[in-house]
Amino acid sequence: MQTTSQHIVEVAIPLPLEGSFHYLVPQRLSAAAQAGKRVLVPFGRRKVTGYLLGDADAPGAGELKEVLEILDEEPLFTPSELEFYRWIAGYYLHPLGEVIKMALPAGINLVSRYRCEQSEDGTPVLKEYLAGGKSVRTERLYTAVPDCSARPRGKGLEILEYLLEVGECSGPELRERFGPCTAQLGRLVELGAARLSQREVYRDPFKAKEYGHDGPLPLNPAQAEALARVSAALAAGDFAPFLLHGVTGSGKTEVYLQSIAVALAAGRTALVLVPEIALTPQLVGRFKRRFDCGIAVLHSGLSDGERFDEWRRIRRGEASIVIGARSALFAPLERVGVIVVDEEHEGSYKQSEGVRYNARDLALVRGKLGKAVVLLGSATPLVTSYHAAQTGRLGYLSLPDRVRDLPMPETRMLDARNHKGDIFLPELVEAMGENLDAGGQTLLFLNRRGFATYLVCETCGHVLRCPNCAVTLTYHRIKGKHVCHYCDFTMLPPSTCPDCQSGAITLLGRGTERVEDQVQKLFPDARVSRMDRDSTRGKGGHARVLKELEEGMVDILIGTQMIAKGHDFPGVTLVGVLSADASLNLPDFRSAERTFQLVTQVMGRAGRGDKPGRVLVQTLAPEHYALTHAVAHDYLGFYREEIAFREEVGYPPFAHLAALTFSAVAAGQGESAADEAAALLRRIKREARLRVEVLGPVTAPLGKVRGRFRWQILLKGVERADLHRLLFHFRGGFSHPSTVRLTIDVDPVDML
Ligand code: ADP
Ligand code: ZN
Ligand code: ZN
Repeated sequence: MQTTSQHIVEVAIPLPLEGSFHYLVPQRLSAAAQAGKRVLVPFGRRKVTGYLLGDADAPGAGELKEVLEILDEEPLFTPSELEFYRWIAGYYLHPLGEVIKMALPAGINLVSRYRCEQSEDGTPVLKEYLAGGKSVRTERLYTAVPDCSARPRGKGLEILEYLLEVGECSGPELRERFGPCTAQLGRLVELGAARLSQREVYRDPFKAKEYGHDGPLPLNPAQAEALARVSAALAAGDFAPFLLHGVTGSGKTEVYLQSIAVALAAGRTALVLVPEIALTPQLVGRFKRRFDCGIAVLHSGLSDGERFDEWRRIRRGEASIVIGARSALFAPLERVGVIVVDEEHEGSYKQSEGVRYNARDLALVRGKLGKAVVLLGSATPLVTSYHAAQTGRLGYLSLPDRVRDLPMPETRMLDARNHKGDIFLPELVEAMGENLDAGGQTLLFLNRRGFATYLVCETCGHVLRCPNCAVTLTYHRIKGKHVCHYCDFTMLPPSTCPDCQSGAITLLGRGTERVEDQVQKLFPDARVSRMDRDSTRGKGGHARVLKELEEGMVDILIGTQMIAKGHDFPGVTLVGVLSADASLNLPDFRSAERTFQLVTQVMGRAGRGDKPGRVLVQTLAPEHYALTHAVAHDYLGFYREEIAFREEVGYPPFAHLAALTFSAVAAGQGESAADEAAALLRRIKREARLRVEVLGPVTAPLGKVRGRFRWQILLKGVERADLHRLLFHFRGGFSHPSTVRLTIDVDPVDML
């Protein structure tokens, strides 16, 4: 029997496996075996890197395998971060090891101290890892030794006097100042007149820009009220979540900045999340001008090494503000006082693969665990957020007016029904012509998303919808049928419109290329450009198109949602929305909400300069509430209709969703796994009396993706706890062949 004094630890392994594992720590590693470090452990016939979660007392320790090596000198995560990771793993039903791996910067793997290699007799040996160029980078630093009597001559003396004056200076800086001086520096060190040390340098992506400085602006009454409530919450020191609702230009960012100043003054830190596309040098500049403290910026353009550098700076407490996109949520910042989620309605906060977390939702969790103020800012809040504000789960802060009295653009809806699918209605063509003559720029927004094709009546605008789920039916070419991908309702294509009996019904879906052709034909002299994923591929493509527009090199720019976000185009005086219907008819219960957000955003692109702008929205659904309220700048009107719809049909916030996707190369395997899963789900639900609807399985709307067939089961639960119990039991009891891949998506955002 082993004695109880053995050191046993719990280890999470970043593999798709449930639970954590126990290992024995040999005496020689015992002191170093701290929670938060990586360990090398035997696993099956392999050796894998795991994360040490803490000490454990497990029975049967005699059978445990031993930890082979401790891979870090310092822990990578703190106990409170581990608590957060555990919460995520539980909520999203994802293995803890994979959650931890995702939360830590990828570059960390480049600096593990050891690498495991096979020795000649086949036993593993650890070699000191040579991390290559991407690891910690250092530079040489020279310091004068003040009371040294040795006096060099010539250039050496000049350098020494300079060092005495400035205290310390790096080699590159000295060379820049004095020219080649390696020999002199060596001599100074040899004489004992200067000391050489190493300093770590960080790769700074937004480097050495002079940002200048500016102070807080005097707030208007609405901003002052918002700040007062945030300050009170910070003083109380409890978790306090707020929705900050205000149109673009209403001064939300100023409220963020001043809230953060209050938190910093109280010795706390701040985390600012923005959608990737909004993470611009201008935004970062605004923070750098306002604050003297360290600011770390995390964006997707960083190399692994750069990201790791920023992470280390934050870990050491050298940054008090972290700005970044989705994954910055995991920044190792301590004492966080304020978490900002700007444009909280953005779908890009949801990670669509791996751990399918939503950074907007997790900001609230992190805020709660760390007793922070969370500010969710938006001009078009999610209806679930606004509902939460109405029911008191979020505090409501409103900035109703623009700070500078810019006029709202003049907006009109153009009814495209009875126009035989023309790309442009005559009014829009006329307006484009006028705008060209007047030297203004035009933005044509083509709301094309995904691949879903749907049936629409060109006479009355009627769209085929599922009678059970109220979502648009998607046409499946292979089957030749219209299918609901929530519940698998199927119907053959009708020959006439079910609503008005017109024979003019078409499958819709059109692309930016066709629009570009047409524009060029209509206006042969105009300089036309296109911005979508295809035309701006490659680094800088995106920025290039924007720059051309800004410099007046483009008269008409055609684009997808890319052009709707974040950018300011002062020269744009006309915005045409070509197919507001496309997002309206996505097979997704959020289609109305998405459309309202998009159209509102696009409208914000017109007339940001001195000239007032015009917006024309061309649509087959001119009476749809998402469009009428967007055009009227009426969020509340939209919210009331949308929340009534959600309640009636039972969608969030009145129900919680999870999507299970099964994919397999062999169609039969995926299908039978999905069928078995659905049967098991229904049995668990019945036996445990859980109030959850099990819909499907259905073939996923995108059918076959990357060579794999896909099936989906949608779960809909009124109580979140019921939904989670069902998922939890299901995961524990379901097994499937390894050729089938199962992903569980809790709170899915994109239902394609
Ligand atoms: P939002 O984040 O809601 O778009 P911003 O905070 O960026 O709004 O404010 C829009 C513009 O108004 C910015 O140029 C900002 O500097 C300015 N601004 C914001 N608040 C004030 C204020 N209280 N007084 C004067 N200018 C302000
Ligand atoms: Zn019709
Ligand atoms: Zn349905």
